[in-house]
Amino acid sequence: MIRLVFVLMSFLLVSLPAAAQDLRALARVLAEGSRLEDDGRDVVLDLALTQAVPYRVFVLDDPARVVLDFREVNWAALGPELDASSHVTGLAMGRGDAGWSRMVLTLDGPMEIARAGMQTDDTDGTAQVQMRLSPVSQAAFTELAARTPPGVRLPPVPVADSPLPVRVEGGPIMIALDPGHGGVDPGAQRRGQDEADLMLIFAIELREVLLRSGLFDVVLTREGDWFVSLPERVTIARSAGAQAFLSLHADALAEGRARGATVYTLSETASDAASEALAEAHDRADLLAGVDLAGSDDEVAGVLLDLARLETAPRSAALADHIVAGLDRAGANLHRHPRLEAGFSVLKAADIPSVLVELGFISDPEDLANLLDADWRARVQEAIRDALVAWAAEDQAQNALLRQ
Ligand SMILES: [Zn+2]
Repeated sequence: MIRLVFVLMSFLLVSLPAAAQDLRALARVLAEGSRLEDDGRDVVLDLALTQAVPYRVFVLDDPARVVLDFREVNWAALGPELDASSHVTGLAMGRGDAGWSRMVLTLDGPMEIARAGMQTDDTDGTAQVQMRLSPVSQAAFTELAARTPPGVRLPPVPVADSPLPVRVEGGPIMIALDPGHGGVDPGAQRRGQDEADLMLIFAIELREVLLRSGLFDVVLTREGDWFVSLPERVTIARSAGAQAFLSLHADALAEGRARGATVYTLSETASDAASEALAEAHDRADLLAGVDLAGSDDEVAGVLLDLARLETAPRSAALADHIVAGLDRAGANLHRHPRLEAGFSVLKAADIPSVLVELGFISDPEDLANLLDADWRARVQEAIRDALVAWAAEDQAQNALLRQ
């Protein structure tokens, strides 16, 4: 009987928001506390990480290899100290499939993953991965290797980090990410999940994806489970010098539009009754928390703001179009009307192109399952990043034309 046939771990970081702060930087593998050694006929691998990240472990045959994928880590600190095992004939680290950092151990014979686990230190947030490999028969190994998770590309040769194909001029573009709701306002709730928590996780991961491209800076309108009024969210974005504002939601609707992603831009008149109801529901949370939305535009400034919005509106629309196209290409479920308009107060920044992305409806079981799936989120986050790159390049080209 095989002790532990196969390990596929990809856990959600549900300990948020306490851990949220720590997720700002890409996790690093530390040389100190990491080792790869023989222990009799077994091989022991310990990896010290600056923070916990989702990971998975699996084996590949011909030649026998063990693959560790992390979402994601920087390997730079690891040096030659990791070569004290006589059973490991090759060790490679780099970037694997989309969103994963990969370590591949080539073995001198068939081995099974006898144990693999990650422990997090509650005091400093660091994490320790411990794995033990034990010899098995070739037949048992072949069976294990056949269970490689679907979607893993072969051969898993790590490749060097490559920059995005599209370049944007100037320094990094500041993007404001606005995880909807928070604090007294949990947003939509279904099956023990809060929209507020899900959006915080999504926003923190998306920040990571954007920062890693080197093309963007990111400000979050909230980094934990606390209440931020809609006008305050816009203020945070503006003070950071945000050049685009993305509000992230996954609401619940009892009827009508049941599922799929929708991207909203601001309009005084909603596209339909459901959009109107959604926008009103979001404003209502602020009113309950004592925020007076009516005061956000005073009458004198109103005219000037309207003029500024005239200029910003087409830029917001272009951003929304790019995101819809990106989500579509990424294979995310789209709502049957994926581009809508409504009077969301959080989109009222006159000077910042702003969109509200409903990533799905947590009232729909498939949409909720997608939001809980790290692979789905990574795909969608990369699609949003690419949409932002395409939009920014186009936006800059338009501006250059206007200046001529
Ligand atoms: Zn919402």
